[in-house]
Amino acid sequence: MTFEVDMWEPIEYKAKHSIDLTEEEAKWLLERKDPSDLERLYRLADEVNERLNGRVVSFIHNMNVNYTNICEYHCTFCEFKKLPTSKDAYILGFDAVKRAMDEAEGELSEITFQGGLSPKVKFQEVLDLLSQLREAYPEVHFHAFSPEEIDYYSEETSQSYLETVSQAKAAGMNSMCGTAAEVLDDEVRKKICWEKISSEEWCDIIKTSHKLGMPSTATILFGHIETPQHVVNHLRRVREVQRESRMITEFIPLLFMPDKTKLGRVIDKSMDRIAYAFKMIATARLYFMNDIRNIQTSWVKLGWENALRSLSYGANDMSGTLYHENITREAGGENGEYTPREKFVREISRVGRIPQERDTVYSFQRTQATVT
Ligand code: SF4
Repeated sequence: MTFEVDMWEPIEYKAKHSIDLTEEEAKWLLERKDPSDLERLYRLADEVNERLNGRVVSFIHNMNVNYTNICEYHCTFCEFKKLPTSKDAYILGFDAVKRAMDEAEGELSEITFQGGLSPKVKFQEVLDLLSQLREAYPEVHFHAFSPEEIDYYSEETSQSYLETVSQAKAAGMNSMCGTAAEVLDDEVRKKICWEKISSEEWCDIIKTSHKLGMPSTATILFGHIETPQHVVNHLRRVREVQRESRMITEFIPLLFMPDKTKLGRVIDKSMDRIAYAFKMIATARLYFMNDIRNIQTSWVKLGWENALRSLSYGANDMSGTLYHENITREAGGENGEYTPREKFVREISRVGRIPQERDTVYSFQRTQATVT
């Protein structure tokens, strides 16, 4: 018979006194299932969030530019990629992107610029598109390229990561997307995205961006085959990178959407996915307490009501308006979402929080030492 140690006492003490949680404590939190434990976790995460961010909830007016959906990798969770022969495959040119950006309501703050991986799309062509956009929109922040794209283009051009990221920066990149992280545990990566870079390489590329003065985000794709141990391995790596550079602006937990994917067919269907998402947000808030101030929730993945609920479980950022889908529709893509700023303001206020539009690097937090 095994007895489980109750870790609430040290965890609550640490949370109240801003002392870092260990990986073991974070894992224990992720293993909680009892509703009363979950309530306790959410309350604690909310307290820490309140201490760091007050009642403020931020969002950004942004657009996704996925410059191509052609990708020759085989990640088992991906619904986005198309083969070059697909009738829905596209490669965007400057005119199509410009048209979409010009149609956006009000001035866009950020463009998230990413694409699939294929010999059909050369790094130089992508850089040319980025420089043209940079020239046409000097005020916009280009949040560009995942570590995976950097690795792919480094290989294509036989350059080091440093050279590749430097070229991207010269073309107009302002910060790096912390995507393609999936779960930073090579045991999981080998099963769900075996062609992708290792966890170590992902961290190296993120650190390269930081060395060149460009911040990044950090994501996790969860809700598939990972265990709490895999998750804490991921959290530990992200915290280690952050402790070297302090240049990760936010942590973004992305709930895996199983429909229509290969991976979706093998996961545990009985799992309460929304409850898991809340637990992930709350645990990330506590684990990153002294290292990453912003924990994002996703209205696209969780739906508006659940995303609003998660603001009481440790999240302080509602992500973006995601003004993008007219580009992909035009280019042959499917569906899409855009939510005007007014809805963010209205909904965030409705749950008793203070809406605050932000830029990519949360500049407002630098001028607002105490948020009430
Ligand atoms: S590399 Fe990206 S676009 Fe390509 S299959 Fe994997 S997740 Fe999809």
